[in-house]
Amino acid sequence: MDCPRCTVEMTEIPGDDGSMHRCSDCGGLWVDVADLNRILLHANLPALSGIGGFVNPDEMAGQCPACHVELVVVEGGEKRSLHYDTCESCGGIWLEGPDDDVEVPETMDWKGAAADIVGFYKAFRKK
Ligand SMILES: [Zn+2]
Ligand SMILES: [Zn+2]
Repeated sequence: MDCPRCTVEMTEIPGDDGSMHRCSDCGGLWVDVADLNRILLHANLPALSGIGGFVNPDEMAGQCPACHVELVVVEGGEKRSLHYDTCESCGGIWLEGPDDDVEVPETMDWKGAAADIVGFYKAFRKK
């Protein structure tokens, strides 16, 4: 699967129950909603459907790397400053990598990626 931003092949991160994909170029993460929910519940957070957020239909997102339909932008966090993208067709989630001035590690294991995801959704829930 290619990164929806950089169109480079993403690296698979194998986990116990599933796998994520990560772009080593931009640090973005592609995760299945079932895996995402497992990670959130493990961190005592609600499942994604309970996290909330606002769909922004005017914001352009990339294409789903699996189904090649347009992703939908969901905004949340303080002053809606955060967003993630989701595919309404397969339920996949795209989390953008860190800002340009932050160096992206070449590789990441499941634990590191899961920690990033938990940190993101903790901030995303803040109003
Ligand atoms: Zn990328
Ligand atoms: Zn999809």
